[in-house]
Amino acid sequence: MLSTMQDGPLSMAQLVRYGTTAHGDSKVTTWTGVGSRRMSYAELGRRAAQLAHALRGLGVTGDDRVATFMWNNTEHLEAYLAVPAMGAVLHTLNIRLFPDQVTYVANHAEDRVILVDASLLSLFGPILPTLTTVRHVVVVGRTGTGDQALPAPKGVRVHDYEELLAGQPERFDWPEPDERSAAAMCYTSGTTGNPKGVVYSHRSIWLHSMQICMTDGMALRQSDRALAIVPMFHAMSWGLPYAAMLVGASLIMPDRFLQPGPLAEIFAAERPTLAAAVPTIWQGLLLHLEAVVPPDRPSPLSTLREVMVGGSACPPALMRSYYERYGTHITHAWGMTETSPLGSIARPPVAASGHSEWEYRFSQGRLPAAVRGRLIGKDGTEVDWDGRTEGELEVRGPWITGAYYRDDDPEKFHDGWLRTGDIGTLSPDGFLRLTDRAKDVIKSGGEWISSVELENHVMTHPAVLEAAVIGIADERWSERPLVAVVPHEGQHVDAEELRQFVAARVAGWQVPENWTFVPEVPKTSVGKFDKKRLRALYADGQLDIVRIG
Ligand code: ADP
Repeated sequence: MLSTMQDGPLSMAQLVRYGTTAHGDSKVTTWTGVGSRRMSYAELGRRAAQLAHALRGLGVTGDDRVATFMWNNTEHLEAYLAVPAMGAVLHTLNIRLFPDQVTYVANHAEDRVILVDASLLSLFGPILPTLTTVRHVVVVGRTGTGDQALPAPKGVRVHDYEELLAGQPERFDWPEPDERSAAAMCYTSGTTGNPKGVVYSHRSIWLHSMQICMTDGMALRQSDRALAIVPMFHAMSWGLPYAAMLVGASLIMPDRFLQPGPLAEIFAAERPTLAAAVPTIWQGLLLHLEAVVPPDRPSPLSTLREVMVGGSACPPALMRSYYERYGTHITHAWGMTETSPLGSIARPPVAASGHSEWEYRFSQGRLPAAVRGRLIGKDGTEVDWDGRTEGELEVRGPWITGAYYRDDDPEKFHDGWLRTGDIGTLSPDGFLRLTDRAKDVIKSGGEWISSVELENHVMTHPAVLEAAVIGIADERWSERPLVAVVPHEGQHVDAEELRQFVAARVAGWQVPENWTFVPEVPKTSVGKFDKKRLRALYADGQLDIVRIG
């Protein structure tokens, strides 16, 4: 029997219409470096309509790709709304990829139009001639003094964003495409191999946004002022912009001001209630606040109800520091570009308290109802959710990708499940605890050592700012851990002290004997520890290794 229910499409058109009318008074704020500029969602809706008309005028039809090469700001949000709602496909380019990767990604997606922040023109200019499908470049904002016109290759026209929007109608008859059609795309940051494209549908964005707003999701709500530090090109800013349209949460955009000092100013001036970023951002901000805000001064974080962290394992010491110093909980979530990205979120069960509550918080959290998970053990069979037996996490669900865009990668899919490449356990009550990425885990004498676990132990040492662990070849054990340590400025700690510190916390055979001290751990384009580069530095003999034990 078929249901009697209507089949209303979950379209971006409806999301945009709703967000910019029902929540017309909510605001997007963009930091300018010296203050902020604000726009209501009603105005945002009018500008999105103008942008859609302008893009039609440039010949954008059907599922043409419109790319952005931008920071998090109001105009980027305008593109977030206009492009999918007009039926085209928004492609958020990662401005921090190597130039040849940007070329690869934009050509692979066949981007027709690119919106570029003026402040990124010096980065974008040299890339433009390598883009084979781009016909129009739209420059957003002014570069200020010494404004340089962007030299356009043959066949490419350069426009000014505001000039393009001026005079366009403020309403657009948003189409209602099939909810399964493409709305936006994002490429993985290419930690392994070439970046691969993930294409989100109107439907997947809707369902994912609803999950973000659920109380046990990110609990995004109308009264929130959400500071989206996570870039709009990093897995769609973890879903915050679209979820904000659903509930009318206001958004605060940091533009290019992502260093700890400017972030602290944004916190003080804009008083966000929620903020989202990778662990390295929170680490940097913590150090800055400790250095500049005396303990007797009010905390600039006092309005934060919580902080969302993900993208890589959040060190427990960092979570504790924020709670102890500022009363702010860092909420740990796991996800991937491939999972929209929200895959799990660590909301401890109500009965948990004290030590047990913290253990739940340190985990990657519970998978939501719509995301199914399973663990595949070393022998290729499913392992139990017993909280002990490790396996590779595989997931499936309505906002999990089932393929890559025009890229055959059978290794990543398994009977319709996405292979995450993450190793961990699931507890009977559905909590995911990741031990490591499959490619980072250290295979020592037939046993596995978690690089993340070692890092977390080393990073609890008071003299250590950052620690990253990689496996290095070892004749006897096949691989052994090498720890790259960044001490806090002005502090000294030696390898022997750290070795003893770790030895008190892990089994003897896991204690690393290889140590190196570095000025900083290299980071990926989205701010994670770049272990690929660390391995390359080691292979090139550029690390001074202290061997002890
Ligand atoms: P890339 O794979 O290019 O780094 P993503 O941002 O999509 O790009 O990364 C997804 C991966 O990030 C996951 O597969 C996982 O390894 C890691 N990750 C994300 N969140 C967490 C977390 N909370 N704890 C541990 N690892 C995480």
